[in-house]
Amino acid sequence: MKHRIVVLGAGYAGAFSAGYLARQLHSDDFEITVVNAEPDFVERLRLHQLAAGQDLRYRPLAEMFAGTGIQLRLVRVTDVDVEHRSVTVADAEGVEPLGYDTLLYALGSAAADHGVPGVHEHAFPVAARPSALRLRARLDELGGDGKVLVVGGNLTAIETATEIAESRPGLRVGLATSGELGGWLGTKARRHLLRAFDRFDITVHQHTTIERVEEAAAVAADGTAFASDATVWAAGFAVHPIAAASGLEVVANGQVTVDRQMRSVSHPDVYVAGDSVFVIGDNGRPLPMSCASAGFTSMQATAAIIGDRTGRKVSTTSLAYVGNHISLGRKDGIFQLVDGDARAKSWALCGGTAARVKSAILRTAAWSVSHPTFGKPSRHYRSATTAEHSPHVVAA
Ligand SMILES: Cc1cc2nc3c(=O)[nH]c(=O)nc-3n(C[C@H](O)[C@H](O)[C@H](O)COP(=O)(O)OP(=O)(O)OC[C@H]3O[C@@H](n4cnc5c(N)ncnc54)[C@H](O)[C@@H]3O)c2cc1C
Repeated sequence: MKHRIVVLGAGYAGAFSAGYLARQLHSDDFEITVVNAEPDFVERLRLHQLAAGQDLRYRPLAEMFAGTGIQLRLVRVTDVDVEHRSVTVADAEGVEPLGYDTLLYALGSAAADHGVPGVHEHAFPVAARPSALRLRARLDELGGDGKVLVVGGNLTAIETATEIAESRPGLRVGLATSGELGGWLGTKARRHLLRAFDRFDITVHQHTTIERVEEAAAVAADGTAFASDATVWAAGFAVHPIAAASGLEVVANGQVTVDRQMRSVSHPDVYVAGDSVFVIGDNGRPLPMSCASAGFTSMQATAAIIGDRTGRKVSTTSLAYVGNHISLGRKDGIFQLVDGDARAKSWALCGGTAARVKSAILRTAAWSVSHPTFGKPSRHYRSATTAEHSPHVVAA
């Protein structure tokens, strides 16, 4: 019997990991299956662009994984039974169990509604493609006239507000944030950000916590109602509830708690990568949900799976957090570096050069994920006879 490795999710973390495993492990001993709900790789980093009206390149997973030996199941994961090593998947044909010996959980994240009433019914999150497309349809309906309120003050909110303001200049765009807009940025970057918001004529409501979303308004904690024809919810990410429901140990936002090598602390045959994982980075703080973190955690998780299954030493991957690249529409941006304590450095790259750097990073990330085995070392390691973990496990 081959050892069954099931990878849940074919986003940045899942697609990279599956490709790496396929190149390292011998196909006589290992069967690798990737499960994903959507038929194509969704370039999540560009969903604000999609929402604003731009079209993204279609990258079918069947083409991406062709010739790699990876089996692809285009089905939705509805449940994970970690005690019986089984995943429940569903599609139009029905529901079925999918057994595994090793699971890599990489289902990413969704918009966090923080329990705010009305978000589910009336707001438009940009964390997933279906909701980004709903927002796009709503903006089309509004045409050149209407009010858009973006809720949130972090990267996704900033990128979404500026993208919409640039692509749809007729709309009046506002942003409400419970803190200070870009308060975490260094002086140069923050000045640049505020100038860009002025240029785009985006009204900023700082220290404003939205406590209720209605069909045509968002209501703040002090009772102020902001009229809004489309309220965009960009107030953070939370992990899909499947992880917590499965009995895996999770933290408050649903991220799975793992050891340094990405094994679930409660179920070590489950490995976790990408937005779904809660792990302390090299700077002693939780690693942020980001494309870079997806890369680092995938490298570490796949190294651990290969080591644990073949008896090889598990190498340690850096879990670094070096900074943020933020787009401000298509022609402007900020690349803010952070220090070892995750504090913004005073220097930042701003303007057209930062926009071009970000664009190059996005293109490179999408290209490498959509060529999942390209350039990866081809080793074909055989399975170890023992199912024990390698002796090089680092405790949580
Ligand atoms: C608008 C926007 C802009 C962003 N910009 C940046 C940025 O500039 N830089 C940056 O570093 N990060 C950015 N991020 C964050 C970044 O997109 C995530 O950190 C990254 O996508 C995490 O990768 P992942 O593989 O964990 O998850 P994902 O890329 O989301 O992949 C998860 C996969 O799992 C699939 N899936 C989910 N649920 C199920 C299910 N039940 N059944 C089957 N399949 C399922 C999804 O279809 C998807 O293919 C941005 C996010 C958004 C929304």
